[in-house]
Formats: sequence, C-alpha cells, structure tokens
Amino acid sequence: MNKIKEVAGNNTSDLVEMNRSAIVRILQQSDVCSRADIAKMTGLTQASITKIVAVLIDMGIVNEVGFVKGSGNRRSIGLRLNAEKYLVLGVKFSRHVFSIGVFDISGKVYTQQETEFSLEEFASDVVSNMKRQIHELLEKYKNVVAIGFAVPGPYLRKEGRIAMVTRMPAWKNINFIDEFKYEFDKPVFIEQDANAGALAEWWFGNHGRPLNSLAYFLAGEGVGSGIVDHDRLLLGNLGIASEIGHISINVNGAKCECGNRGCLELYCSTTAMLKKAQEVLPELFEEVIENRWEACNKVFNAARLGNKKAIKLVEEIAEYLGYGCVTLINAYDPEIIVIGDSISQGGELLLPTINRIVKERILPDICEKVQIKMSELKVDPTLCGAAAIATDKVLRKPSEYLV
Ligand SMILES: [Zn+2]
Repeated sequence: MNKIKEVAGNNTSDLVEMNRSAIVRILQQSDVCSRADIAKMTGLTQASITKIVAVLIDMGIVNEVGFVKGSGNRRSIGLRLNAEKYLVLGVKFSRHVFSIGVFDISGKVYTQQETEFSLEEFASDVVSNMKRQIHELLEKYKNVVAIGFAVPGPYLRKEGRIAMVTRMPAWKNINFIDEFKYEFDKPVFIEQDANAGALAEWWFGNHGRPLNSLAYFLAGEGVGSGIVDHDRLLLGNLGIASEIGHISINVNGAKCECGNRGCLELYCSTTAMLKKAQEVLPELFEEVIENRWEACNKVFNAARLGNKKAIKLVEEIAEYLGYGCVTLINAYDPEIIVIGDSISQGGELLLPTINRIVKERILPDICEKVQIKMSELKVDPTLCGAAAIATDKVLRKPSEYLV
C-alpha cells in the first residue's frame, strides 16, 4: 500500500513534477499539440519538454499522433493525451448525500451515482454502503488507479477526521483514514471539499491559459475556499488553510458553530439564503421542493422573472460573495477566482454586484488583474474535485502509481 510522506522541502524533482503537471494540463485542454506549442505556452526549453514527454509516452499517458502544422508551415509531431488509459474514482461526501464517479485523468466522467441518506441513519451504515458501492465500481472499472475523497471542512487531514460538521455531530467520530485508506487495493487520498474544488478547476477547468494561482470559492450549504498557488494546494499545518467561511465579517455578529462570530458562512451559504427566502418569499416554498439545489434555483428564477423581493435577496447574497472575494484577493492574490456549488447557479445575477464590490474595495492595479467567474465544469466541482485529488497525486508521481 502506498503511503505519502509529507515533507516541507523542495527538490529538483518538485520542479520536474510542476513542469510535468503544466504539460499535462496543456494536453488536457487541446486535442492535439506539438512540443513547440508546449514550449510557447510554458516557456520551458525544448530539451526539458522532450525529456518529460518521453517519460509520459513511456508510461502510456501521451501518444504521438501524426503531424501538426506549426509556424512557417513546419510540420511537427502531434501529441495527444491518452486520458482513458488510466481512470480514477472520486467520492464526494456531504451532509445529505454521497456521490461516486469514475473519471479519466482529463476529467471526463464515465459514470456517476448519488445516494441520499438521512441524519437519523447510523454513520457506520452509510460508510458500509459507500464501501460496497466503491468495491462494485472497482470491479467494473479495472483500470482505476487511485481513489480521491472530498469531505466537508474543516477536515483535519493528518488525523483523518472532520473537526466540525454542522448539524451532523455523529460524523465527527468517523475517521476517514482508518475507514478508507486500507479498504481497497488502490491508493486513497482525502481532502476537504473546497480544496477538491480548487484542484478540479486547476486540472479540468479549461481556463484557457497556464495560471499561476487560482482560488475556488465554494458557496453551497457551507462556505469555504481552496487555493492552488504555483501548482500547489495551500494546506497550512492541519490542512484547514483558507477556511474563508469562518472569517468574521461582523465581529459582534451571531455566534457560529465554529466559535467565531459573524462568519461569512452565516451570510452567503444556501442555509442563510433559504432562511431569508422563507421569511420574505414564503409563496415560493408552498409546494414541496426536492432539495436545496432546487430551492436556491427557485429564488434565482423568481429574481430572473422580476420579483423585487427575490432581486433584493439575491443582491444581498452577491454583496457578501463580493466581500468574500475581497478577502480572497487580499489574502491569497489569486489570478482567477472561480465560484462554485449551489449558489453559483445565480451566475449572471450575481457577477455584476460581486465585481462592483471588488472594484470598490480593491486597488485598481490589483483589481484589473483578477478575473472572477462561475464554475463551468459540467459535473459538480466537488465530485470532479475528488477525482482531481487522485489525478493530481497520480500525475505527480506517475512512476509510483502507474505501472
Ligand atoms: Zn464560523
């Protein structure tokens, strides 16, 4: 069984990893490209690219496919990512539902399934059900090479448990490392949901250019963020860095379960939005609504249809998301902020206000260099992120995991 050793130093091999990851991400985003195209986009020398690509070809991750036309009509050998050769399995665990998906290393989903559970069920029964489903999928998809788990934060990644799960105290006693690390004959990697989302956007987000840093702003039932800076996930000591949802935006505000007061999460999570919506727009909730995702959508659609109360509520949420973005920019200096999870369904309704707040509160020289957008991933970024956790580990150490 593979065990990951966590170290603080950087070696030459880290640089190779970073360059390899940049090359794979370029290949993910283009159907076919040449070594010269990669050199242009990464600034790496042809010699380094040739060396890294040779290793990737050797491992079967990249194939040479005919010729592509380059500048001056020169023909160069085309390279294509052989993404389907290696699959990864992603598991998203959240408050009411767990989802499992099989993906290839370019983020393409092969299958996904969702299981709802109630908070009255024993956590151990839910865990057993999860294990059974994963075993079944591993049986069916033999070329899965690693498994990634995305769990709600704050997740203490060295200890393997979630420090606080709002309204789910029983889950505090579940140790994810003990339960899952040695259950399958595949390596298992576990991170918290916002970090998973950040890796999903980093690996599969198709943002059109090689990025230096990215912030993923998770705005769903919980609020959090994940940061990838120069190809590294920002973890902190315990793995709970960038818990933006528990940054106080009102030091005398309502008490939060985390112990702090006036946390951002209390203002722009779906819980906050739906609580307010039930007060001011009770007519929207007369019929039974399937889930929170749909309930949020109802509020956004009411705003789209011109309902003044809904417009005001959405505007308020957007303002708080804007304050969150201001904090993300001041704290982490991201090149791009991607907002994901259920609140991002508000898309075009939210962005103008978010951008206005950021423009008002961030220096113009900084503000104009940050792009804020909604996630465009076709699969839930957290589930996709669970797959990205596994992809990230596998592609960093291919010789360890791909044999
Ligand atoms: Zn809090």
